Amino acid sequence: LLDALADQAALAIERVQLVADVDQAKLAAEADRLRSALLTSISHDLKTPLAAVLGASTTLRDYFASLPEDDRRDLLSTVVDESERLNRFIANLLDMTRIESGAMEPNYALHDVGDIVGTALRRAAKILVHHSIEVRIAEDLPAVRVDPVLLEQVLFNLLDNASKYAPENTVIDIKGWASGDQVLVQVGDAGPGIPPGDLDRIFDTFYRVRKGDQVRAGTGLGLSICRGFIEAMGGRIVAGNRTDHQGAIFTIRLPRPHDIPKLEEFK
Ligand code: ADP
Repeated sequence: LLDALADQAALAIERVQLVADVDQAKLAAEADRLRSALLTSISHDLKTPLAAVLGASTTLRDYFASLPEDDRRDLLSTVVDESERLNRFIANLLDMTRIESGAMEPNYALHDVGDIVGTALRRAAKILVHHSIEVRIAEDLPAVRVDPVLLEQVLFNLLDNASKYAPENTVIDIKGWASGDQVLVQVGDAGPGIPPGDLDRIFDTFYRVRKGDQVRAGTGLGLSICRGFIEAMGGRIVAGNRTDHQGAIFTIRLPRPHDIPKLEEFK
């Protein structure tokens, strides 16, 4: 009987092994597929703005003397705008690498949420010209213990998205308030919102709801950086849809200073 049991156990182990091998093979294939999708996406995101810079600067070089002043200025604007886009994309890639390698060491200090919102708004001023901005920060909001550069980058990415996905002349609003043992910061817009099934997946690296959407250029990196930064600071970020009207709403929850674990615990 013992021998029979041992045989059966061996057989069962073999089967489990077989399933595990198949799973391993599936995982490896999936990783390969992701890696190549990643490379395709990165190459495309680098090539598109670079092609525009090359086109505009070549035209300027070859026809400078005969081009009307307005055309020259337009071509130069293309060079500047597309270079900025390239710059942002590369900065995002570097941020991503820092998060994934675990090499991120936030520089914590106590900061006023209103100040950081102000800095992010100033930095985003150029991309927000077609929207109206409403800011409501509670007066008695306690200071938060964050790395201001990281929080500012998160707000910038959320504002950048709101300006990209919400129609012109609509309101983008930023709210800050305390609730229980948390400080909440919300960025809302009046755009199309996010399909309920995608609310969590939009934080995945390179995930985009509308694949191949050429009008709203993007990389699918912005929100995964937001989540990486906020979680590195001991907070949470979630996406939702407004209930009062159409639009997406992103909520950041930061622990109040006294709840933040000691720095060593993050490492
Ligand atoms: P990107 O905007 O570069 O594509 P993100 O990581 O910032 O990448 O966003 C991922 C996806 O989430 C976007 O492609 C878009 O489909 C969706 N999304 C993000 N922000 C908004 C928003 N404010 N309104 C509607 N959809 C959004």
